Amino acid sequence: MKIHNGSLYWPTTTQPYHPSNNFDKYEVYNVVIVGGGISGSLTALALVEAGLSVAILDKREMGSGSTSANTGLLQYSNDIMLHELIDQIGEQDAVQFYKLCYKAVDDLEKIVDRLQLDADFIRRPSICYASDENDVEKIKVEYTTLKKHGFPCDYLGPNEMEEKLPFSKPGALVTFGDAEINPLKFVQGLLKKLEKKGAHLFPYVEVKDVSEADNILDIRTSNQSFLAKSIIFTTGYETVPVGHRIGADINRSYVFVSNPNQEFKNWHKQALIWETKRPYLYIRSTFDNRMIVGGLDEDNPNAPYSLELIQHRAENLLKQAKELFPNYEIDIDFAYAATFGESIDNLPFIGEHPTKPNHYYLLGYGGNGTVYSMLGSHILRDLIMGKRNEDAEIVQLQRKYVVR
Ligand SMILES: Cc1cc2nc3c(=O)[nH]c(=O)nc-3n(C[C@H](O)[C@H](O)[C@H](O)COP(=O)(O)OP(=O)(O)OC[C@H]3O[C@@H](n4cnc5c(N)ncnc54)[C@H](O)[C@@H]3O)c2cc1C
Repeated sequence: MKIHNGSLYWPTTTQPYHPSNNFDKYEVYNVVIVGGGISGSLTALALVEAGLSVAILDKREMGSGSTSANTGLLQYSNDIMLHELIDQIGEQDAVQFYKLCYKAVDDLEKIVDRLQLDADFIRRPSICYASDENDVEKIKVEYTTLKKHGFPCDYLGPNEMEEKLPFSKPGALVTFGDAEINPLKFVQGLLKKLEKKGAHLFPYVEVKDVSEADNILDIRTSNQSFLAKSIIFTTGYETVPVGHRIGADINRSYVFVSNPNQEFKNWHKQALIWETKRPYLYIRSTFDNRMIVGGLDEDNPNAPYSLELIQHRAENLLKQAKELFPNYEIDIDFAYAATFGESIDNLPFIGEHPTKPNHYYLLGYGGNGTVYSMLGSHILRDLIMGKRNEDAEIVQLQRKYVVR
């Protein structure tokens, strides 16, 4: 499966990380993690720091999956608004889930600081505008709900928006506590630290199958096999090698990254911008003053092979960006398409497989994938260490639509 195609931007900002492989493989690992993207590396960090022996296997170069296509917006607000999630799963769990997302952005910052990762992590507010008049009420209800539960946010009417941005809309929700990051630099920095902390990294090893005997998992791969007490699948949007995903909508999405332009610094605090319409347009800036613009999700799991189609979609995104920022000189420097997964109930899949003991999943489907990876790494660490985690039930696999 081709999970992205076109010209990616993040790989031009960093060098690939090649593990040293200077270790003796363990006979039995505490945990084997399948997938060396942002989910796998964050989970490995949590486990290694808890004292477990960990191997990460990836069929590609680590970080080169959807982590390389991830546009790096870190937001506590989700694709499903808090008041909608309350309707879906009840107030207590919905508010707790939002709190976990809020804390996950803080936790990501703490990792960047503590491990001194060069990942261009910058705090930004987010502005979610009402795409049309009909959505103003929705934004207002969300503002009231977030305020009621203590989340930092603000409401902007059209005039206030005009003061902050070169465009105005009928209303907007501003959330504070969000951030932007370069996800690939983050993962490459993390992998380097993980190796120093004793994790074993095996790129270009594809997991094919897993069997169990006497509570030990036998993990068969494209070359050698591995023994482990637990396995965690952090395989992103691709078909899982063991288990069957029944709650995922796998689509594709488009992104362009613009030319660098000092003018892009001029909108309000270089906020992360998105909207109420689905699929939504979203915009952020970069440390080197480029604009990243994404959206136009399509109902097709494979990134298109046609570079012409990708360019065509990027031009469509450019047109929408120019409508918002008519006075800015914006050109396309990079354009790509990528597979993108959402869960049907808008929650990530995090936890132990319902019928396969010691098989765990962290599939952070949805626009907040990185935030889910962060919060999921702590939940899985606790489950694997045999500790009770009160948040685990919200995202567990014992739901109608998950992995079977
Ligand atoms: C266009 C786009 C924009 C996005 N923007 C954002 C954003 O702004 N903010 C946000 O929070 N999230 C965003 N996301 C979501 C985010 O990218 C993902 O949630 C996150 O990067 C997924 O990381 P991962 O580690 O789970 O998956 P990946 O990075 O895809 O890693 C999974 C790894 O598993 C490996 N693998 C798969 N199967 C096997 C196997 N059988 N054996 C061995 N290895 C295997 C793959 O090679 C891959 O490297 C975006 C996604 C896309 C596509």
